[in-house]
Amino acid sequence: MNDSVVLRTEDLTKRFGSLTAVDSVSWGIESGATKAIIGPNGAGKSTFFNLISGVLPPTSGEVEFHGERITGNPEYKIARRGLVKTHQTTNIYEESTVFDNVRIAAQTNRTTFNMWSKASDLTTVNDQTERVLERVGLTDERDRMAGELPHGLQRKIEIGIALATDPDVILFDEPIAGMSQDGRREMLTVLQELSNDPSLTTVITEHDFDIIMNLAEEITVLHQGAILTEGTPDEIAHNEQVQKVYLGG
Ligand code: ADP
Ligand code: MG
Repeated sequence: MNDSVVLRTEDLTKRFGSLTAVDSVSWGIESGATKAIIGPNGAGKSTFFNLISGVLPPTSGEVEFHGERITGNPEYKIARRGLVKTHQTTNIYEESTVFDNVRIAAQTNRTTFNMWSKASDLTTVNDQTERVLERVGLTDERDRMAGELPHGLQRKIEIGIALATDPDVILFDEPIAGMSQDGRREMLTVLQELSNDPSLTTVITEHDFDIIMNLAEEITVLHQGAILTEGTPDEIAHNEQVQKVYLGG
């Protein structure tokens, strides 16, 4: 792989007892790209993300970020380096406003955080928060209590929290799953906008590949923890092996 690869794994493996959830996965993504990881439930998508983002230590194999080995580092350290995974609404302070939820994350922004110059930073933090709310389409909801928002909007807050830390790479684990029709459409618009940002590298998992077709430039199909195939959305849509996996064949 060439120099612009920002994140890569080599023979990454995770076993839970006798089950190999992630099986020797060698994969990578170039800076600014958008890739998807698809596969049926149980294929190993979430575990793969957990290994990359430091939620779980791998059994073997390596993870490299910006050319440095980060294998087994804790999640907070990896996040501080600029690689974050969105949590599914578990990070939200329900008793705080939407604005404050995002502002708390913006305050610890990797690039602007400086506790010795608080006064000048307040404007920066507020500006950053406004920008993030705009990007995720929550400007109108800024003063509402986070806990009062419907699930779909809470998931946008989570994305806002991730964005406010100013990451280089964001991992989205099934960001569209379980949403209403309207919620899906809105979330797809947000994801589309983020994927068009050249300073952001995005990786999205999804079990339904129709959803991902218009979003990712390249798709990796996981099956029983291993890479079945990789290709453009068009190639994947016409791949017989992939169709078999999805039809349970
Ligand atoms: P996906 O996200 O593609 O649906 P997962 O990564 O969640 O798949 O799961 C892959 C496999 O690993 C599944 O068989 C699942 O039951 C198993 N698994 C996931 N997490 C654990 C765990 N903490 N302990 C034991 N087995 C697990
Ligand atoms: Mg999953």
